[in-house]
Amino acid sequence: TKAGVRVADVDALAAASFPLCMQHLLHKVRDDHHLKHGGRQQLGLFLKGIGLTLEDALTFWRTEFAQKFGVDKFDKEYAYNVRHNYGKEGKRTDYTPYSCIKIISSTPGVGDHHGCPYRHFSQDNLSAALGRMRLNRKTIDDVMTKVKNHHYQLACAATFEGVHGAPCESGINHPNQYFDESRKRAA
Ligand code: SF4
Repeated sequence: TKAGVRVADVDALAAASFPLCMQHLLHKVRDDHHLKHGGRQQLGLFLKGIGLTLEDALTFWRTEFAQKFGVDKFDKEYAYNVRHNYGKEGKRTDYTPYSCIKIISSTPGVGDHHGCPYRHFSQDNLSAALGRMRLNRKTIDDVMTKVKNHHYQLACAATFEGVHGAPCESGINHPNQYFDESRKRAA
């Protein structure tokens, strides 16, 4: 396990080092103070993977969800699932974060925000999201071409290279690997 990431660090780490799938989920939970189950799982297990402790995970989700539902409803209906993901409830399985393949092959429905933006966003939404990451036109065109050819992980790696101004020889196969590669460059 890794050195702890505190809840106060999440937004700065997201801006610097989260892949687009996780940046999107974080923006959504900050805006809506809610995420449906698929999004809670995808983001929650990723945050666990970067080293957010159970206690901080509960603070993170409670702070958002309580703004919409109140603390009682959070504690009654949502806290269990957070503890469950950390292996503290039910079968006590220590669940692992989702890989790119799992996320890309998921099927988000209406109102869901999980999934891989390269696979599941419309062209317009994806190109707007890439613009917000301050990628230049050439990189955006390169990413969009890879998406058209259904090379979603290559598109993510091209985004990584544009964001970091550094090559990503290993490619991207896991959101937590994207994060780790990014932190190596920040260190
Ligand atoms: Fe996330 Fe993987 Fe898609 Fe990148 S390729 S946005 S890390 S699911």
